[in-house]
Amino acid sequence: MLSVQPDTKPKGCAGCNRKIKDRYLLKALDKYWHEDCLKCACCDCRLGEVGSTLYTKANLILCRRDYLR
Ligand SMILES: [Zn+2]
Ligand SMILES: [Zn+2]
Repeated sequence: MLSVQPDTKPKGCAGCNRKIKDRYLLKALDKYWHEDCLKCACCDCRLGEVGSTLYTKANLILCRRDYLR
């Protein structure tokens, strides 16, 4: 679900609404995120590491631990 794409056009971050100037964009829930802005809604842990799995429930982004709770 989490994918990294080459930055073609600057996109707004769904977390902080600022432009993403990083070289790669994180895409989740059809939105783009800064690496630092993609966090679990429950425990605030970072989910932006490439290859990590994130889960969604009722439009919240959750880490595996909180999702399974
Ligand atoms: Zn951001
Ligand atoms: Zn969590």
